[in-house]
Amino acid sequence: MLNEKVAALLNTQVNKEFYSAYLYLHFSNFYKEQGLDGFANWYQIQAQEERDHAMLFVKYLQNNDAPVVYEAIDKPDAQLRERMDPLTAGLAHEQYVTSLIHTIYEAAYEARDFRTMQFLDWFVKEQGEEETNASDLVKKMELFGSDSKGLYMLDNELGARVYSAPSLTL
Ligand code: MG
Repeated sequence: MLNEKVAALLNTQVNKEFYSAYLYLHFSNFYKEQGLDGFANWYQIQAQEERDHAMLFVKYLQNNDAPVVYEAIDKPDAQLRERMDPLTAGLAHEQYVTSLIHTIYEAAYEARDFRTMQFLDWFVKEQGEEETNASDLVKKMELFGSDSKGLYMLDNELGARVYSAPSLTL
């Protein structure tokens, strides 16, 4: 049996991960409208990954006989005007998600729920990578984004990203 507080936080995380997917689809659409198909591709794949994250939390709850409740997903709240806006909003969002994962980890630790801590280890590492990726995108855009050739090459680079399933299986 999962600790009640831990189970509730895990269920909330399902919604947060789906929200992340929704937010990144919003980013993808913003770039698509501008003809930056590579940036659009990058965020569409990012959205797929977030949906995978959501389903990992669902599966974990189900495996532990805990209820799964699908709550309403918020409308993406990021105001996008400049090409840089999704990138900085994405970095801030990943930092926020890291704090959420850490909060669940803390609750699991307090409940001496070692199984959940082990499950969350993958997400702790994953969030480190997500923050690095998001921060790299901001830096690349700062360096190359203001020049049309640089932007074209960056868009090509991001267009090469392909989806791969998460390394964690449950
Ligand atoms: Mg995620």
